[in-house]
Amino acid sequence: MAFSCRQCGSCCMYLGDYIVIERQTGPFTFDCESVSTGTPFTAEVDEDKQTIFGDFSFPERNPAACRFLRPEGNLLRCTIHRDSPAQCKFYRCVVMRVSDVRGLLLGTVRGTLDLHSDDPGLRAVWEEVVRRRPKDDGKAEPWIAVFLQERGYRVD
Ligand code: SF4
Ligand code: SF4
Repeated sequence: MAFSCRQCGSCCMYLGDYIVIERQTGPFTFDCESVSTGTPFTAEVDEDKQTIFGDFSFPERNPAACRFLRPEGNLLRCTIHRDSPAQCKFYRCVVMRVSDVRGLLLGTVRGTLDLHSDDPGLRAVWEEVVRRRPKDDGKAEPWIAVFLQERGYRVD
């Protein structure tokens, strides 16, 4: 269940108000603030992403997106991967994919340990998860996986 970011960029598309550039200090260096935590940070565009960063057509077309997000092929990439704030580095959009025995995807569990699913059966089981899960998120995550597997779900 190790999380692997697919670099789809969708979690960064509306963070333009949260990851703010205060001033540019060099060709590729910036003083920034992570607004949600009130944390200042300095960022330098990763060396291998300076070319894509230099194309400003994407932020112009997507004013709500984080200023450091850029397309590259089919990906949307963070151009300050090395210097991005901790909450970006540790963010996991999906920690479990829950399927039936045939492998049909029924729902996903987000990094916040919330279920996203339209399946009534899984939603009913999830109500039990919410009632019984350990309070500590670190303990809850493996507990939830085992709980669902014991009820016949596949968890990836
Ligand atoms: S964390 Fe998730 S939503 Fe964000 S870029 Fe990675 S795969 Fe996409
Ligand atoms: S700093 Fe990078 S990971 Fe964080 S919101 Fe911006 S593009 Fe996304």
